[in-house]
Amino acid sequence: MKFMDGNKVVRAGLAALYPPRCACCNRVLMHQSNLSGFCRGCLPRIPFRTRSQALLGWSDFGPAGYGRSYPVVCATWYRDPIRQMLLKLKFGDAPDLAHALAGILLYGWNRFGIDCRGVVAVPLHQTRERERGYNQAGLIAAAFAKQIDRPDWSQYLIRNRITERQSSLTAREERQANLSGAFSLTLPGKRFERIGGDDARPVVLIDDVLTTGATLTEAAIPFWRNNIPVAGLVASSDKQTQSRLIGRNIGRRLALQETRGFGSTLNRP
Ligand SMILES: [Zn+2]
Repeated sequence: MKFMDGNKVVRAGLAALYPPRCACCNRVLMHQSNLSGFCRGCLPRIPFRTRSQALLGWSDFGPAGYGRSYPVVCATWYRDPIRQMLLKLKFGDAPDLAHALAGILLYGWNRFGIDCRGVVAVPLHQTRERERGYNQAGLIAAAFAKQIDRPDWSQYLIRNRITERQSSLTAREERQANLSGAFSLTLPGKRFERIGGDDARPVVLIDDVLTTGATLTEAAIPFWRNNIPVAGLVASSDKQTQSRLIGRNIGRRLALQETRGFGSTLNRP
């Protein structure tokens, strides 16, 4: 007589007790859609950006002197139900949502076929992370790293100080001063060689929501200082694509670079 292996029994038991639920409507997942974690009914409600809307790029958000623009892929518009899911992840102690959200990031990311060497979450300050219990971007980054089978290096990027919420500051100079030097890399010797090595592929910086883009760019600076190219990937934003803001050329050039496989360090036009 054959017995099921112990792990299988436990897994089957857990699946019966806690059947997988849709990350959006929380109903038991009877009909899994193409996107892991979402039911077929909810999939059409996700406010995905089109391919051309999903590629944001900046040349005017970094502090003067860096002159870098880099591709930022944004998967969705900041609208319900994604907005609710992100708020729930942030404030509702629902870390399970990270897996489903990482799937949404992956959908956006795969449209551009950019390879990367590793994944890094935009960090919270230690104090904030302790208050909340986790960094929501960190959870998404960890799940995303697993899904694309790349290392998660989030532990190596730290936020040096507690910054004001960007949304509370109005002037662009104020926002930049607030963030200036806010992030740094903590990489001991050999690890730095591994992350920084002679690799043309970018590190992917991950955040949950993008407002102005200033935080993401500030978080990219420690990498640029060490000649590590960066690409950004965010779950959601209300921001229009840069191609609409500063002319179509940039969008086209970025898209061209993307199709060639890499486009994280374009020069200022
Ligand atoms: Zn659903």
